[in-house]
Amino acid sequence: MTLVPRPGILEIAPYVGGESKVEGRATAIRLAANENPLGPSPKAVEAYRALSGDLNRYPDGGALALRRALAERYGLNFERLVCGAGSDELIALLVRAYAGPGDEVLYSRHGFLMYGISARSAGATPVTVPERSLTADVEALLGAVTERTRLLFLANPNNPTGSYLPYETLRGLAERLPSRVLLVIDAAYAEYVEASDYDDGLSLVERFPNVVVLRTFSKIHGLAALRLGWAYGPEAVIDVLNRVRGPFNVSAAALAAGVAAIGDAHHVERSRAHNARIHAWFVRQLERLNLRAEPSVGNFVLVRFGDAQGAADFLKSQGVLVRPVGAYGLPEHLRITLGTDEEMQAVVDALERYRQ
Ligand code: PLP
Repeated sequence: MTLVPRPGILEIAPYVGGESKVEGRATAIRLAANENPLGPSPKAVEAYRALSGDLNRYPDGGALALRRALAERYGLNFERLVCGAGSDELIALLVRAYAGPGDEVLYSRHGFLMYGISARSAGATPVTVPERSLTADVEALLGAVTERTRLLFLANPNNPTGSYLPYETLRGLAERLPSRVLLVIDAAYAEYVEASDYDDGLSLVERFPNVVVLRTFSKIHGLAALRLGWAYGPEAVIDVLNRVRGPFNVSAAALAAGVAAIGDAHHVERSRAHNARIHAWFVRQLERLNLRAEPSVGNFVLVRFGDAQGAADFLKSQGVLVRPVGAYGLPEHLRITLGTDEEMQAVVDALERYRQ
């Protein structure tokens, strides 16, 4: 007798994370996972260390201190906040709670892979919708809503394209989406965006009963290792998440570091400013090499190579790890996280050798 998982599970192509090691090299330049090259706030590291004497204690299952800190920082109602082990966990919990066999989970063609993986693991059907110029197409998304649609995921900005929808467009989507469909705005890269017409969507949560916003500590806060994300949503949705999550789904280390990270606005600003500067510099260098970066507002750029795998292999041979994005329907592109000045100079040097 063979053990058979529920329908849909074996259709999941397992998520392959960004590579972190190059064989034969002690260190690699890691630009494959959109991590903060400056690391976390020193205050977060201190808070993490300070916890080592209490490892026998369970974490605060209600994440009260962190929810309070988030509520204060963003002007939110802390009762409508829930924390998760990365936003990945919250994505999975939302799908599991609201969709099952026969239901559809909608997202755009080059949207974040975990939406489809979570849909399949809940037995639901992922439905992807074509984009326009590598950007989510609101008309097409709304046109794809059926009576079976339960959730619509929108990463804003999106990974791996780096594109975003301006606030007015996002609001239009929330207004026109039937209220029986949950709109999940995944704003993992919100802190990096400088465009004045961008909004993380938190204000839409106050206006619509079916809008949830997800945020993460893995990107600008540099705490990917600790797995920490949060959701802000209507009372009913937060109530549902609190019913389905594990009682101690976020570790004490993540909670402590998270509170310290939220309190360190200076580190966030330093990370944002570094990203903006190195982004502009790197795009100019790419142009010089006749390479094109798609417009991006995140901490990464999507670059068209044609033979993307060949370019990724070459870069790897030079000790530089970037992300092929064939699994996102972009077989000709590579996604390159914006690293430190030295790392980006090394990428440019390697690309120069590649173009020769
Ligand atoms: N959402 C988007 C758009 C992402 O790019 C990522 C990570 O790459 C995540 C969510 C997951 O982040 P976390 O580390 O919080 O699970």
